[in-house]
Formats: sequence, C-alpha cells, structure tokens
Amino acid sequence: MKTYRIAVLAGDGIGPEITAQARRALDRAGERFGFALRYEEALLGGCAIDAAGLPLPPETVDCCKNADATLLGAVGGPQWDGLPGARRPEAGLLGIRSALGLFSNLRPAMIFPPLQTASPLKAEVTGGALDLLIVRELTGGIYFGARGRCEVDGQPAAFDTEQYSVPEIERIARVAFSLAEKRRGRVCSVDKANVLESSRLWRETVARIAREFPGVALEHLYVDNCAMQLVRDPKQFDVIVTSNLFGDILSDEAAMISGSIGMLPSASLGAGKAGLYEPVHGSAPDLAGRDAANPLAAILSAAMMLRYSLDEPEAAAAVERAVRQALEQARTADIAGGGLPVCGCAEMGARVCALI
Ligand code: NAD
Repeated sequence: MKTYRIAVLAGDGIGPEITAQARRALDRAGERFGFALRYEEALLGGCAIDAAGLPLPPETVDCCKNADATLLGAVGGPQWDGLPGARRPEAGLLGIRSALGLFSNLRPAMIFPPLQTASPLKAEVTGGALDLLIVRELTGGIYFGARGRCEVDGQPAAFDTEQYSVPEIERIARVAFSLAEKRRGRVCSVDKANVLESSRLWRETVARIAREFPGVALEHLYVDNCAMQLVRDPKQFDVIVTSNLFGDILSDEAAMISGSIGMLPSASLGAGKAGLYEPVHGSAPDLAGRDAANPLAAILSAAMMLRYSLDEPEAAAAVERAVRQALEQARTADIAGGGLPVCGCAEMGARVCALI
C-alpha cells in the first residue's frame, strides 16, 4: 500500500489537540481510499525552546525535509513572550518556511452554507457559499527589500523597497495557473501597475506565463479595486495571485468573509510537492487543554495536503464534504448556532471521521 511520510509539528497551546484530530481524519481518509500515513513528530516553537533551547532545532528541519508533507498546529504563548525576537516561538515558524524554500502561501476563503450567518456579508452577496483561493508570494517583495532610515531635507525619514525579479514572479504565477487548472480555470492577478514599476514587471510577466496555460483565463485588477470587489462580489473570483504585501492584506480581508478563524486552513508550497499545511489561527492559549478548540481549520489544512502534496484529490474532497456535513450536526463553541448541540474538539474530529 502507498505510504506517505508526514512530519507533524504540533507546537504549542491548542496545536497538539487540533493536529491530533487532523491526523485522525487523514487516517480515516487513508482507510477509505487505500493509502497509509506514517507520522514523525518534531518540535517547533515554545515546546522546542523548553526542550532544546531554540525554536527550530535542526532535527525538525531534517524531519520536514524527509517528509512528503508537513502538518503544523500553531506556536506561541504568553510564557515565551518575554524572549528576544530571534528566540521567540514565531522565529521557528519563519525559520521552517524559509528552510523548506516555501515561496507561495495558499489561503482559501470559503463559506460553508451552514455557516452563512457567521459571514459579515449578506447571503445575496456571497451566494450562500463561496470558494476562492488567494496565492500570495511569500519570500520576496517589500518585506525582504532594502530598508533603512535616512534624511530628507534635513528631516529624519525612512524607506522600504518593493523589488521582484522575473524568476520570482514566474514561479508564483505558475503556481497560481496550475492551481486554477485544478479548480474553475480563472486567475486574477492583483498589482498596482498604474503606479509601481515593480507591478508593471509583475503584470507583464504574469501575462507571459499565462500563455503556458491556455485553459486558464487571466484578468488583472489593481489592488485597491480588488479590495472593494472582495466585499462587493467575491463570487467573481477563483484564484487570486499577488505579491507578499498585497497578499498579506487581501488574505486577511478574504478570511473575514468566512466569519470564523477556527475554519481557515492554509498551505505553503515551494518548488517540490512537499508543502507545509497549517490553520491560519494561532495557539489560542485561552482554550488549550480544555477540549474546546475548533479542529476544522486543521482538518481542512489536512485536506489541502491530500490535494496539493499527496495527489489524493478524492480523499481531499471526501474530507471537505465530511466537514460540511458535520457542521449540520454539531458545532464547537466558536461557531455555535443553528440550534445545534455544542461539542468539543475531539467529538468534532470524531464526527468528521465518521462522515468520511
Ligand atoms: P489566536 O488565533 O491564537 O486566537 C485569537 C482568538 O481566536 C482567541 O479568542 C482564540 O480563542 C480564538 N481561536 C483561535 N483558534 C481557534 C480555534 N481553533 N477554535 C476556536 N477558537 C479559536 O491569536 P492570538 O490570541 O493573537 O495569539 C495567541 C498565540 O498564538 C500568540 O502567542 C501568537 O503569537 C500565536 N500565533 C501563532 C500563529 C501560528 O502559529 N501560525 C498565528 C497567530 C498567532
């Protein structure tokens, strides 16, 4: 039987509880679709600081590099907040993304019909269901460009630099077009080409790469217009591809359309197939150890892993369908409503498994 190696970085706070449920869902999907998963656990974040004195031990990087994919819970907590920047749990997160060469971040914004009322947008705007994917460039642009303090006309000033090379734009564009081929065949590239030279290069490069994907339709939007369109008519989008800075902002805007942080998965991909899959939310120290967290973002991240790293699209769809159905049976406290019983993290995981 096909066996996939999965590195599990459960992390801190609710991380171990939610990744345990994601593993159960993966195992159940494997049983149903004829594959097995072998998990290797490694330390990241606060638990790594406590055990090994640093947030990203070298063994953790090796473990992820040898795996077919990595499942990450969340890192951080108040007990590590006083540490200097490079020794904080979050430094482990940035470190593992860069060690694995992950240059694209994928964040779906979905509305599951049973949760329509959690969305701040009206049902007629979202159509009662929504499924768009934001592909954000993760390792270039203004967050990594030259920055500094200077003087202008004798007054203190500061600058940051947005810079993209053609290969950086080409590779993120190819990720977006390849994903659109597996979805509804549409890419919207977002830039500020009416003002920024880096955006003009972005736009011409994306347009050139589009010719490699004749089955995908490309349109361009300015970022200010895209921010408006996301709340005016989000149904128009399939895949949105954009730079690090614009993607940071637009993906949070799109995330809010779904209305609940406990429901949002993400994936980060590099040149190979082995990606890193994690919920968008943090370690929720207020909920840790209480069986109160919503495991669905982690379970949906596992579904993305099945689709994008393990090439098991049917298993991915079965997990997503099971999540939709579980939402019609019970809710965790963060998404309570609809007259449905409130359940804990483990029970929600069990319900999803039973429905896969
Ligand atoms: P958070 O996402 O952990 O929590 C924000 C709020 O959402 C809290 O009220 C929490 O209870 C709730 N929440 C989050 N996940 C939930 C879930 N699965 N089910 C139900 N409710 C959930 O963000 P925060 O409070 O700003 O940060 C807490 C810690 O997490 C900090 O140490 C922060 O640095 C860290 N953090 C880590 C990541 C990551 O690992 N990727 C991301 C963000 C924050």
